[in-house]
Amino acid sequence: MKKLDLTGQRFGKLEVIKFAYSDKKSRRWECKCDCGGITYVVTGQLRSGNTCSCGNCLQRKNNALDLQKEHKKLYCCWRDMVRRCHNPKACNYQYYGERGIEVCKEWRHDFYAFYDWAVSNGYDKETYGKFGANKYSLDRIDNNKDYSPDNCRFASKREQNINKRPTYKNTSGFVGICKHSSCDMWYGRVRDESGKIRYTGMDKDIIIATKMRNDYIIDHKLSNQLNDLSAYGY
Ligand SMILES: [Zn+2]
Repeated sequence: MKKLDLTGQRFGKLEVIKFAYSDKKSRRWECKCDCGGITYVVTGQLRSGNTCSCGNCLQRKNNALDLQKEHKKLYCCWRDMVRRCHNPKACNYQYYGERGIEVCKEWRHDFYAFYDWAVSNGYDKETYGKFGANKYSLDRIDNNKDYSPDNCRFASKREQNINKRPTYKNTSGFVGICKHSSCDMWYGRVRDESGKIRYTGMDKDIIIATKMRNDYIIDHKLSNQLNDLSAYGY
């Protein structure tokens, strides 16, 4: 019987370099992990998909799970960033993925790598995600470039506003439309005659949310600024 040769095959992050050695029952393969690590894996573990990265990466993955829990807001920040750049179903994909904005390879599949960068670049668990003008969040220095270590920083809202695309009035691009921080939905708000804030409705689709806000203003005969939706057929 011809002996199985896995040389050159890829299993997850592992590429088989060569046959390494046999122990009692099993044969082990020298594998190179995408992270650069070398590991020796039994045939069955590779073919079943049970082992698809080196021990180093596994450790990182476990650490990342702990980190996820401890730094929940940062984790959501990372998850949402990957989603709006790489998932066409994300409601704000049109402003990111569709414009060619990507998350660098280093961060895209690895929260741990993102976390590592974050802690040495202004991320602070205490100030991150707090409301108000001093709310710190992830910001791209050049809005036409990718999410990557050299184009990102943690900055307060005040610092970020200096940096917005000129045609956009806030992060949504529409007056009075904001993104709900936890549920990935857009909502509209207006200030009525008495100065009270009124919510005008929420939707996954930013255009629908904006249309709802326009309708609300018209229905209630308010003097708030409307958003021009003529380019979207409204
Ligand atoms: Zn590895």
